[in-house]
Amino acid sequence: MEQITDFYRLMDESAMIRRTMADYYLAHMAQPTHLEFLKRIATTILNAPRDQEGLLKLKDEEGRSVLIKDDYETTELQKDIYFFEQGEALFLNYLSEIHPGFGEELKQLYDFLGSEPYDVFLTDRDGTVNNYCGRYRSSVQSAYNAVYLSRFGKTVRQTPVILTSAPLMEAGIRELCVIPEPLYVLAGSKGGEYSTFEGPRVARSIPAPVAEAMDSLNGKIEELLHHPANRIFTQIGSGCQKKLGETTVAYQDVFGSIPEQDSRRFIDEVHKIVSDLSSEGHDIRIEDTGKDLELIPGSGGGADAGHTNVGHAGSAQHGHFTKGDGVKFLVEELGLDIAGKRILVCGDTEADLAMVETAMSLGGEVSTVFVTNDKDLRRRVYETGARCEFVSSPDVLVTGLDRSVSGTGSSIGAQEKI
Ligand SMILES: [Mg+2]
Repeated sequence: MEQITDFYRLMDESAMIRRTMADYYLAHMAQPTHLEFLKRIATTILNAPRDQEGLLKLKDEEGRSVLIKDDYETTELQKDIYFFEQGEALFLNYLSEIHPGFGEELKQLYDFLGSEPYDVFLTDRDGTVNNYCGRYRSSVQSAYNAVYLSRFGKTVRQTPVILTSAPLMEAGIRELCVIPEPLYVLAGSKGGEYSTFEGPRVARSIPAPVAEAMDSLNGKIEELLHHPANRIFTQIGSGCQKKLGETTVAYQDVFGSIPEQDSRRFIDEVHKIVSDLSSEGHDIRIEDTGKDLELIPGSGGGADAGHTNVGHAGSAQHGHFTKGDGVKFLVEELGLDIAGKRILVCGDTEADLAMVETAMSLGGEVSTVFVTNDKDLRRRVYETGARCEFVSSPDVLVTGLDRSVSGTGSSIGAQEKI
């Protein structure tokens, strides 16, 4: 493996294999060859060229060298191999070796969750139920993770929802999620678009001029990224994420893989697209986050041709759609019954607080688990007034969810040596 495209191809293959493995495992069916495929993928990645610091050193289509920190991909592959080869009891010991304090945290979470089923489960993905990966494009869910979340999801009385700010389709969570059964509703763009398992995509309506502007923009950005010199920008950091009413394109990653003049040229080309669209009456603004350009519909939604720098306060209507708005949209769409019900909300960042607040405002009896060690965020979670608990890693959370339904959490520390 020398090309960066090979790396992504392998990760895509791992998603298919993992989906099948989780499926067979949950159905208690033997799976003689899948593990071998997964091992082969792990070995290929492990043996690929690396720099002195151990980062993957791959080539893009133009022959340029790109560094990739593959911690997430490699660690999660190892975990899956361990899970399927050694079995669940030993896998728990393995997790407790990776995460200091795992057993105690798990016990505490188990006590918090209780064994009575929840009516509704709303959760963020990255950093909450999925370990964090710096590169969205290859953040494929692990099979063990899918097994745990599936077993928990089945006990939730109403449709469980995974809600993320990332896009739903085209390298969205639908491709990255390997939960095998039609169990969870997957919602992207902060809950503004969703689909059931292989079902059609449903999206909240956005004003026609905004949709038109974003369609024109996405078409042009796609054309730009199709050029061989630019394909690399889909393969680093945030890549290209076409969310509902907002598009993100990376021009650099944390390793500075892209030579500055190339980033500069690319940024200029994106600015040119946006200014051309502006002269056609489509109002889009650009926010530079330091590595990415966020392309967001402006206030005019196309009405203020030529005034793209004016009146941005109004853009809050589109730019400030929160995960709380996403929850409201999904509650309505999916017919979720919240008032007076047992609701579990999980998150890991400030943006996820809106899910807790909205579930409470709809009258739910909300319990929330946040994956964070950040004192300030913990205080803000307390301030919502919801019943709350904290853990330090997604692995603790998903294991705790699984254990809470299997009723084996209290044995932790006794039979199992963790
Ligand atoms: Mg998150």
